[in-house]
Amino acid sequence: MTDTRHTKVLIIGSGPAGYTAGVYASRAMLEPILVQGIEPGGQLTTTTDVENYPGFTEVQGPDLMVKMQDHAQAMGCEIIGDIITELDTSKRPFTAKGDSGTVYSADAVILATGARAKWLGLDSEEKFKGFGVSACATCDGFFYRGQEIVVIGGGNTAVEEALFLTKFASKVTLIHRRDELRAEKILIDRLMKNDKIVPLWFNTLKEVVGTESPLGVEGVITENVQTGELTEIPCKGVFVAIGHAPASELVKDSLDTHAGGYVVTKPGTTETSVPGVFAAGDLTDHVYRQAVTSAGMGCMAALDAERFLSEQDD
Ligand code: FAD
Ligand code: NAP
Repeated sequence: MTDTRHTKVLIIGSGPAGYTAGVYASRAMLEPILVQGIEPGGQLTTTTDVENYPGFTEVQGPDLMVKMQDHAQAMGCEIIGDIITELDTSKRPFTAKGDSGTVYSADAVILATGARAKWLGLDSEEKFKGFGVSACATCDGFFYRGQEIVVIGGGNTAVEEALFLTKFASKVTLIHRRDELRAEKILIDRLMKNDKIVPLWFNTLKEVVGTESPLGVEGVITENVQTGELTEIPCKGVFVAIGHAPASELVKDSLDTHAGGYVVTKPGTTETSVPGVFAAGDLTDHVYRQAVTSAGMGCMAALDAERFLSEQDD
């Protein structure tokens, strides 16, 4: 028999947006259920030092997320380790199917499914994923002690990953398609001062090359975007850090989305195109994409959901 759980507010996602929504919805006595998804704690669990979350001069990303989870739980939020595979927003109460078999029904839904790492889409990238190609330096950096590696990208993630990887690697080549980084100035400054990091400007990854048996990376071939010149760089690890795309698969056909898949919200609110469904965090935000802005939107979503539910009661 299917297990069905009803809640006033279902929160989908356990990043800063989801947990903050959990804190506020609990304190509004809405007895929320929060479903964590495949990555409990969200993107910050894939990084180390976080230096820009107010109240913490420096905190480890995974530690910060454990604190947020504990906070939501302490306020009364029920946290469930499940993944939502389908969401029906066509009628109220809304229903969501969990991978566990549980069906959640809810008077209001807060979507906080965040974003996921983007890949380049090369066949050789796909082939060596998990065998030398990774999108998470904190998860996999340890395997490259004393080895040469490359990082692809020019944003905060690429620069942070390159810096972090110098703890293990003998040399890190940062491959970027322009000669200007979009990362924060403080990070660029650290990168430029680090002797182990060599930037390779105006280049993109053309192919990952390696051995078949056992499967393993031996190098990359890059292409100069201005001259077409190919360069072969020996390396054992390839870290792809070219940004993140919103995790909007659940609602791409039912809610209004912008190009790129970001869920549209009414300006100044977290209201989506379906009344009673709210969205917060990186799922809706292609501009700021920070932990603190996501947490702020999580707060707004819980307050918006509370107002929506009290209007239904009137
Ligand atoms: P996310 O953190 O993306 O969390 C999404 C959640 O949704 C996850 O828990 C996932 O499991 C869940 N989910 C997804 N789909 C489903 C589903 N179908 N069912 C149930 N749950 C689901 N920001 C900073 O401010 N400072 C930093 O130093 C910083 N460092 C970063 C370092 C890295 C390597 C990366 C990748 C990002 C960094 N960011 C940083 C950005 C920050 O992590 C994000 O802005 C923030 O995590 C977004 O929060 P969120 O709650 O919107 O979503
Ligand atoms: P991002 O800022 O979108 O940067 C992506 C980088 O990858 C850009 O340099 C881009 O090049 C490059 N790129 C994109 N597609 C590419 C392709 N197909 N081939 C080659 N290069 C490609 O993504 P991010 O660095 O993951 O950051 C995401 C968000 O999280 C940002 O808002 C960021 O501020 C935040 N974040 C914050 C911190 C922090 O505060 N310390 C740390 C990490 C992330 P172009 O520059 O040419 O476009």
